[in-house]
Amino acid sequence: MTPPPSIAARLEDARARIAAAEAAAGRSSGSVTLTVVTKTQPREAVAEVIAAGADVFGENRVQEAQARWPEHPRPRELRLIGPLQSNKVGAACDLFDVIETLDRDSLLQALATEAQKRGRCPRLLVQVNTGEEPQKSGVAPREADSLIARARSADLPIAGLMCIPPARAAPEAHFALLARIAAENGLTHLSMGMSEDFGTAIRFGATHVRLGSALFGARARPGA
Ligand SMILES: *Cc1c(COP(=O)(O)O)cnc(C)c1O
Repeated sequence: MTPPPSIAARLEDARARIAAAEAAAGRSSGSVTLTVVTKTQPREAVAEVIAAGADVFGENRVQEAQARWPEHPRPRELRLIGPLQSNKVGAACDLFDVIETLDRDSLLQALATEAQKRGRCPRLLVQVNTGEEPQKSGVAPREADSLIARARSADLPIAGLMCIPPARAAPEAHFALLARIAAENGLTHLSMGMSEDFGTAIRFGATHVRLGSALFGARARPGA
């Protein structure tokens, strides 16, 4: 039996697929950033992907990220891609360069308070629940414009939008919806596309794709 591909080989393959999708979409080379999703990964796997050149990372939980990153050199960029509780906003502002999951007014207020205290704020994406799934975080699509407007009037640095399409649906309509809301609000930074659908997401304008299992193999705990 052939051994499973190394993390370095998977990273190289993912980079090649991103480059091919950029070219196929007529987008310039390097216009899409690969965010490596490290949730539940052991230290050795993270060390391996860093050694292979990965430098942008996504974390789902503040506490897991706080425990992990002192063990590795500070990457170029750390991004929070999981839901954020208001009581963890200070810790998240200390740790992350980008928070992708602004989705409600209470969080907006907590971020504005921290930003004022510090005189700076991570760049923010608004998470949109494009499938309007009750169990999923994210602002409803019809409420996205007003949340973006309120964040801007609170001087928060809104850079773009993020979505996680419903697990078993075709993602095209969701990516198109996110891109349309972004365009209507003058936003260009689009975090969309995961291991199964990042090629499609790039076709619809993703600037950041978030890959976990494509690099590390299937997670032991599904949905973790
Ligand atoms: C886990 C996760 C990913 C990565 O998912 P894969 O399918 O393993 O690539 C991307 N984005 C978010 C928000 C996640 O929670």
